[in-house]
Amino acid sequence: MRLNELTAHKLLVLLKDKKTTPKDICTAVLNQIKKVNDQIKAIVRVDENVAVPETISDGQIPLPVAIKDNMCIKGKETTCCSKILKGFVPPYNATVVTKLKDAGLIPFGQANMDEFAFGSSTENSCYGPTHNPWDLDCVPGGSSGGSTAAVAAREAIWALGSDTGGSIRQPASFCGVVGVKPTYGRVSRYGLIAFASSLDQIGPITQDVADAALLLKIIAGYDEMDSTSVDTPVPDYSKALQKDVKGLKIGVPEEFFIEGLDPQVKAATLEAIEVLKKQGATFLDISLPHTKYSIATYYIIATAEASSNLARYDGVQSGLRSIPEKSRKSSLVDMFEETRDNGFGNEVKRRVMLGTYALSSGYYDAYYLRGQKVRTLIKNDFDKVFEECDAILTPTSPTTAFKIGEKSDPLSMYLSDIFTISANLSGIPAMSIPCGFSKEGLPIGLQIMAKPFDEEMMLRIAFNYEQNTDWHKQLAPIANI
Ligand code: GLN
Repeated sequence: MRLNELTAHKLLVLLKDKKTTPKDICTAVLNQIKKVNDQIKAIVRVDENVAVPETISDGQIPLPVAIKDNMCIKGKETTCCSKILKGFVPPYNATVVTKLKDAGLIPFGQANMDEFAFGSSTENSCYGPTHNPWDLDCVPGGSSGGSTAAVAAREAIWALGSDTGGSIRQPASFCGVVGVKPTYGRVSRYGLIAFASSLDQIGPITQDVADAALLLKIIAGYDEMDSTSVDTPVPDYSKALQKDVKGLKIGVPEEFFIEGLDPQVKAATLEAIEVLKKQGATFLDISLPHTKYSIATYYIIATAEASSNLARYDGVQSGLRSIPEKSRKSSLVDMFEETRDNGFGNEVKRRVMLGTYALSSGYYDAYYLRGQKVRTLIKNDFDKVFEECDAILTPTSPTTAFKIGEKSDPLSMYLSDIFTISANLSGIPAMSIPCGFSKEGLPIGLQIMAKPFDEEMMLRIAFNYEQNTDWHKQLAPIANI
C-alpha cells in the first residue's frame, strides 16, 4: 500500500520505527492530489511550501491534514468557497488550527465545501462541485464534501469538517468514511467562519474510528476565545475504544424508519444492529416524537442565525468589493448591495432572505421564537430517551449519494438532512461510520448518537462495530490509480 492509503495511527507506527518520514508522507499525499484532484475537486488549495519536519519528535504527530475552507489559517487565503471572501487572508489561526499545529500536524490542503456551508451536496461552491470518489457522477454529500471526498480518495490522510445540520456525517456516509460531530461546546469554533452559531461544531473526518478518536482528542477542549466552549476535561478517546459493548443499551427510534428511507439503507442498518447484538449490546425500541418538526425548526433557526452572521460581508472589511458600474457618486448602500449581489451565490441569497424574514418584527414570535420552543421539545425527547439508553442508532441519511444536479429543488435537498439535524438542535454528539454498500456500489452510513459530552460511548460502539466488519477497509476505485 502507498503511504497516502494508510491511516494516521498506522503511519505513526511507521514514523516511530523510522520506516518513513513526514516528507515521504506529504509527497505521497501531494502525488495523489496531482493524480485525482482534477476529477474529484476535493481540495481547493494546497500549501506545497508548508514546513515539514525531517523526523518525528516526542509526542508530535507530523502528518498532513486537510481543513475545510471555513477555518481560518493565518496568512493563507480562506474563503468558505464564496466569491465574497476571495482574497481574504486571515490574520490569525482558528483555535483548531493552532491545536493541530501544536500537535505537530501539517495543514496541507484546504477542502471544497458548499458556500458558507449551506448545502448537502458540495455543489454550491464558487470553485465548482466536488465529485464522489465512488461514482464521479454523484455528489459527495455536503457541506464538508471536499473533506470527506479527499479522505475517501486518499488525497488526505484525515481532515476537519464542520457540522451545523449534518455537514460532517451526511458526506461521511456518502463517501464511506468516518465523520464525528462532537457535543456543542466540546471543540472551539474561534476562527470558524460562522454559519449558525447555536448549531455549528467542528469535527474529525477519518478513514477509521481509531483515527477519529486521535484527532478529536487533539482538537477538543476549553477555549476562552469561544464563549460557548465548555470547561470540562477531555478524556483519552483512544482508551475508550478498548472497552466492549456488553450490556450497553442502544435505542432505535421508530421515527427514523420512515417512508422515503431507501430499503438498502434500512437493510444495512438492521444488519448493523445484528452485528452489535452479537457483541452483547441490547437494543430498545424508542420514540423521539418531535423528530418530524426538526427540518422546519432547523431551517428557521439556521437561516435566521445565518442572516445575522452574513450581514458583515459588505465589501468594507474583507474580500470582494463591487462598485456599481456607472456612478462614481453611488452611495455606500449601493456598494453594499452590489457587493452582496455579486459575491453571494443563489443558495446564500435564498437563506439570507428566509432568515431575515423569520427575524423581522411581527414575524419573530411566529417563526424564530416558536422554532426555539420546538427545539426545546426535540431536546427533551433526547433527554428522556437517554434516561434509559446509552446511545441511539439510526441511518445517517435516508439515501446513498445522489447524482450531481439531481436535486435542483431546494426542498428536496433539505430533506436529505432529516436524520442528522436533531443532534445539532439538541447539541448532542453524533457520528457516522461506514456500514455497507448499495448494489450500485455506493457507501451507506450508520449514525450513532450519545449523551452530551459522552463521545467516548459513541466512539466505543463505533469501534466495536468496525472491528467486526470490513466496510471501512474498502477503497474507492479512483483512490487506487
Ligand atoms: N445540509 C444542511 C444545510 O444545508 C447542513 C449544513 C451544515 O451542517 N453545514 O443547512
